[in-house]
This record gives sequence, structure tokens and C-alpha cells, in this order.
Amino acid sequence: MYQANGRKAEEFINHEEILETLAYGEKNKDNRTLVDEILAKARLRKGLSHREAMVLLDCTIPEKVQEIYQLAEQVKKDFYGNRIVMFAPLYLSNYCVNGCLYCPYHMSNKHIARKKLTQKDIRAEVTALQDMGHKRLAIEAGEDPVNNPIEYILESIQTIYNIKHKNGAIRRVNVNIAATTIENYKKLKDAGIGTYILFQETYHKESYEKLHPTGPKHDYAYHTEAMDRAMDAGIDDVGIGVLFGLEMYRYEFAGLLMHAEHLESVHGVGPHTISVPRVRKAEDINPEDFDNGIDDDTFAKIVACIRISVPYTGMIISTRESQACRERLLHLGVSQISGGSKTSVGGYAVPEASDENSSQFDVNDNRTLDEVVHWLIQQGYIPSFCTACYREGRTGDRFMSLCKSGQIQNCCHPNALMTLQEYLEDYASPATKEMGEALIAKEILKVPKEKVREIALKNIDLIKKGQRDFRF
Ligand code: SF4
Ligand code: SF4
Repeated sequence: MYQANGRKAEEFINHEEILETLAYGEKNKDNRTLVDEILAKARLRKGLSHREAMVLLDCTIPEKVQEIYQLAEQVKKDFYGNRIVMFAPLYLSNYCVNGCLYCPYHMSNKHIARKKLTQKDIRAEVTALQDMGHKRLAIEAGEDPVNNPIEYILESIQTIYNIKHKNGAIRRVNVNIAATTIENYKKLKDAGIGTYILFQETYHKESYEKLHPTGPKHDYAYHTEAMDRAMDAGIDDVGIGVLFGLEMYRYEFAGLLMHAEHLESVHGVGPHTISVPRVRKAEDINPEDFDNGIDDDTFAKIVACIRISVPYTGMIISTRESQACRERLLHLGVSQISGGSKTSVGGYAVPEASDENSSQFDVNDNRTLDEVVHWLIQQGYIPSFCTACYREGRTGDRFMSLCKSGQIQNCCHPNALMTLQEYLEDYASPATKEMGEALIAKEILKVPKEKVREIALKNIDLIKKGQRDFRF
């Protein structure tokens, strides 16, 4: 039976409830009165239930669909302003004992280059990432108890935090590793991770088991309940996501929102982020083998509906998507993007040799970080390298209550501008620097509290004189 606060996977991701939700959406997709009621509720910025959200996702009334897009854009502006948080992935190892059919790291792929970074390699990679200007990383590793045990991950996190090269520093390490035990999640928490990220891939149990025929990841319940173990272990910020294209998108959409509702009802705080990757081409993987691929319009509608259903949850889009697609989704709800990414193991310090390929997927947006920063500024966005909340202990419900009170605007906006100023001083090209400084001069006036604005202005001046790492 469906129970949002149940602790078993089949209770909170309940197949029958999803089927009923799909039927409810289908039945009401042209129900103007209900759509209007749901949109009115969404305008209160308190979120929607998975059933309500499904009606909007299914809605086919053209002017109502336009309203959904407009509202998503407005919610995005209200909660995130014009700031876009920047990050980069760092692949530590592609050894993996699982058999995921959509990932080139699956164990039976014998022709992919297998690599694992040593601590020395990590130092070189992180130095290169710092030299690009990154402050926030997401580390990734396949599941392999022999090659990538938790001790290796912990040591790598410590190495990353300890590298101080010129003015560079990685200030937040998010971790994307396989579902694990409460004991291991406690160790990750003690290592000072930011967000623990784990994609469900698909919420459809039967498909999940087929797509994960071998390895520990085959266990659907263990994987689906991972975020509960992470939160029980004290990790406040968790990031969920599905891989769109594996199953029917409507099923995944309902599952994602039910997962978010579950975390909120059990742990008092929903997911910190939701990622929306789509299946991409990779060595040994052809996206056309998966027949649930979604077009750009459907993808945009999904992003817009997630935005208004969970307004406080950040949304992430990676370099899997093209520049044009990213541009569209930034308007509709995405608040965090990667830039200058390498999806191979190593490759930031020294490019991979042409006869090697250790990538998890082909990157679609190949621009450098400076090009991405330049492009964002050109469109009026503030690229933000802020990591303040986690370092100030504003995680989990502390973060959410600040967010809900609207006070986060007095932190995010000045922090974005101060960290952008750091980037401009240390890493930007002359053209980016010029545009960025003009943007900062304009945007600083929008900091709501006068006192905060004055301090931010003073700090920006100090950054220009060589000081670093200010935050609210
Ligand atoms: S998706 Fe993750 S667990 Fe699956 S094969 Fe790839 S790296 Fe391994
Ligand atoms: S102040 Fe907190 S919520 Fe705002 S951008 Fe920085 S880390 Fe994110």
C-alpha cells in the first residue's frame, strides 16, 4: 500500500499509486477547472503533490501549457534570481562490478580503458580544475569494493580539500558513489562532503531489474532506500535524479516527486537537488537502444513542472546537453550547471590519448569554463562559485527554512557576486572580466538589505586587492 512516510521502497515508490497517478493525469489533462486550481496552488510557491504535478505535465491545453512555462520562469526568478551555480565532475575511477546496460563502465565492457586515479593524479586533476576557477566538484566512481573501497573515496576527498594552489581551493565536494551502508554514509559525512548524489536511473522496478542484470546494484530496494540510509547517517543534503530515456518519462516524473515527498515526510527535508540527465551516446552504448527517449519539448515541460512542484529544490543540468538546450532550460528552472567538464577518468591535467577512451558519456557542450561563464554573463546570468551554505552549516532543514523565509536572497546574491569577482580576478579572460565587472556593478544594487550591500561592496573591493573567501 502507498505510504509516503513508509520506510520500504515499495511503500513510498508504490507501483499502483504511480499507475493511478498516470491515469489521473490522463483523465484530467483537458480539465480546465482542475488545471486552473492546480496552477493557483502552484502560484503560492509551496509546491504540488505528484498527482497535481502529473495533471500539469499531461495538460494539452496550449494556453495553459504556456502558463506553466511562465510560472516556472517566475518561480525560478523568485527563488534563484539570475544566479547559476557552477560545478565540475571529477571521475576518480571507472572500475565497476555492476552490469548497468546504459553505462559504458559496466563490468562486461572489455574494450573501455579502465583507470583509477592515484592521490598524485588527483592532485594534478584538482590543480587543473582550480586553475580553471572551479570551487565545487562532484566526484564520481564506479562501484567496486576492491578497486574503489570507501577508504579510497575518503582519502580522495581529503586530498581534494587539502590542495591549495595559488588562490584556488575546492570548497565543496559532492559525492556520487553507489548506494552503501549507514556506516559508510557516516564516514562520508565525517569527511565533510557537500551533497550525496545518487540517481535512481528508473523508478520502475521491473525495468530497473532488467537494466541492472548483475552486481549489487541489481537490488532495487537497497538502491531506492539509499537516501534514507544517507539521511539517517546525518547527511542533510541529498541529490536525486533519473536517467530519462530508460523508462516512460511520465512514470519517472511521478517516481521522482514521490521520492521527494517521501524524504520530506520522513526526514523533514526534501532533496537538495534534482538532476535530469538524458541517455547519451558513449563507448559501447547507443541511446537508440533505449526506446523511451524524450524530445527537447517534452524535456522542457518536465523541467518546468519539476520547478513549480518543488520550488526549493535546486535543479542540475550537465554537459550531456547542448548549449541550446541548456539555454532553454536555464529559463525554466535549472539552477546549477557544469562547465568545462571531462567525463573521463583524468583528462583535466593531461588530455586523454586519442586511442584511449574512459568516458562515461560523450560531452555535448564542449566549451571551456571561461566560455560558459562568458555566455552566462552575456545573457544576464550571474555565474556563482558560491559554497557558503555548507561551510556555514546551513544544510538540510536549516537551509530549507532560510530558503522558505526568503532570507536566502541576502546570502546568495552577494555571495554569487563576491565569488564571481574572485573568478574574474584569478581566472577570467580579459573579455569575460570586463563584462563580469559591469554585471557586478549593476547587480550589487539588487542586494535587498542595505547593510549586507555595504559589506558586499567592501568585500568586492578587498577581493580586487588580493583577499579571498568572503561569505554571508
Ligand atoms: S552506472 Fe554506475 S554502477 Fe552502473 S556501470 Fe556505470 S559506474 Fe557502474
Ligand atoms: S548562499 Fe547557499 S544556497 Fe545560496 S548559492 Fe551559496 S551555497 Fe547556494
